[in-house]
Amino acid sequence: MIKRLCIIGVGLIGGSLARSLREAGYVKNIIGVGRSAENLKDALDLGIIDTASHDVANAVAEADMVVLATPVGTTESIVSQFKNQLSPDTILTDVGSVKGDVIQQIKKVFGEVPANFVPGHPIAGTENSGAKSAIIDLFQNRNVLLTPLAQTNAKALAKVKAMWEVTGASVEQMTADHHDRILAATSHLPHMLAFGLVNNLAKHDKSEEIFRYAAGGFRDFTRIASSDPAMWRDICLHNREAILAAMDNYQADLDELRKTIDEKDENALEMIFTRAKQARDGLAS
Ligand code: NAP
Repeated sequence: MIKRLCIIGVGLIGGSLARSLREAGYVKNIIGVGRSAENLKDALDLGIIDTASHDVANAVAEADMVVLATPVGTTESIVSQFKNQLSPDTILTDVGSVKGDVIQQIKKVFGEVPANFVPGHPIAGTENSGAKSAIIDLFQNRNVLLTPLAQTNAKALAKVKAMWEVTGASVEQMTADHHDRILAATSHLPHMLAFGLVNNLAKHDKSEEIFRYAAGGFRDFTRIASSDPAMWRDICLHNREAILAAMDNYQADLDELRKTIDEKDENALEMIFTRAKQARDGLAS
């Protein structure tokens, strides 16, 4: 049970977590912190939070759990604003899509990573942003990855794990480095491909016609290119090396596929597509 939950960044992820915990009766009071009055008003009107604040230092002071749910590049500047108000008993966690760099930002602020900081990342989302897009069951049957450090307090870790389990998620642990390499391949790379493809076609002199005839496959593949640009700018800059490695690896395979088409190698093409289909069919089941 959480007495006072402070959500910094009441958007899709922060708002969905708040809604889910409230629905489960797991939290008594929720204070939401944000920049824009409009988004906080939406969060209040929708009953996602009980009070709204622009003053992060005051908002964290009485909280027993603080969840940082803003774009990953904002971590250092936001945490610096409240580090002196954070009680040693308060648990701090985050939901950022990048873990190693967020941990480094936290370390920069505090000098060392506090024992009560539990890095986390729910593997769930949509292409929508803001409090209005929050979904009660967004985390139901989804994974949440926690990347604790050697110094992470066991009780803090257990409380963050319990909080996510209340939302219906399964919680797993791994190192931050492992997380960042896996997510670069499974989430960050597909976003780069979708952003890249849509941009490429938008520049085409027949782009209007191309998009008019876009069928289901194109729409499925590019849905994620509607995601928030600022969030993805931050993910790229803060998981730069792992994303570059995933892109280089993919580029090599794309070059190979191109060569196979160029050489009209029927068998090789069928083999590539069969291997991909089997892997994708396995994923669906
Ligand atoms: P979102 O809907 O855009 O919400 C982000 C919130 O952060 C907004 O309420 C915004 O408040 C606030 N914010 C944005 N920039 C800020 C800044 N510079 N300073 C202070 N507040 C700022 O985004 P989201 O999808 O919930 O993503 C939040 C975090 O979750 C990110 O770290 C992201 O990597 C991670 N994540 C996202 C997904 C996904 O699929 N979307 C999945 C897993 C994890 P204002 O509107 O008031 O500015």
